[in-house]
Amino acid sequence: MRAMFAREITGAGLAITVLLLLAGAGAHASSRKPATASSPNQETHRALAQTVPHMIAWIVARTGWDIESAPPVRFVASARLAKMYYGDEGGSNRPDIHALYSIERHTIYLADTWRADVLRDRSALLHELVHHLQILNKAEVDCPAQYDLQASHLQMEWLRGQGIQDPAKFFNLNEFVIYLMSQCPDYY
Ligand SMILES: [Zn+2]
Repeated sequence: MRAMFAREITGAGLAITVLLLLAGAGAHASSRKPATASSPNQETHRALAQTVPHMIAWIVARTGWDIESAPPVRFVASARLAKMYYGDEGGSNRPDIHALYSIERHTIYLADTWRADVLRDRSALLHELVHHLQILNKAEVDCPAQYDLQASHLQMEWLRGQGIQDPAKFFNLNEFVIYLMSQCPDYY
């Protein structure tokens, strides 16, 4: 199951950790108060539908990619996302998963806690859209970790455009960790 996701096929622990941070794990969870998750309302679906084409145009303008089709986006319960990502492995220490891209299905999965008015959530969507366009446009990388590097850089650039002056700080990352993300392990 986990082999179906772009960065998830790597098994490279660090890249995965960084990704999860970028996808919005942690800090903002507390600002979403409801303990009971509710499915996104119509307004959220509408906002999503409006946002995706803008983001795709933004990504294509920066990368020069030719193909800019929009993937299906599905909302799923956080528990299901975790299962898609981690498989059946146990462990209580795992970061929450907020977004995934399936290479096989060309589909983005967002946690049903996703909200259009939460900047981190929107940036996580942008990140996964980059993965979709990477696959469609056959972006050249030396190893899967570099898909994430590019997606993360674009995500940060987008956040800067939204007024976040230090996106790495926004995600509690530092430059060293970001640098490490770009390193292909020896076994590739
Ligand atoms: Zn990624």
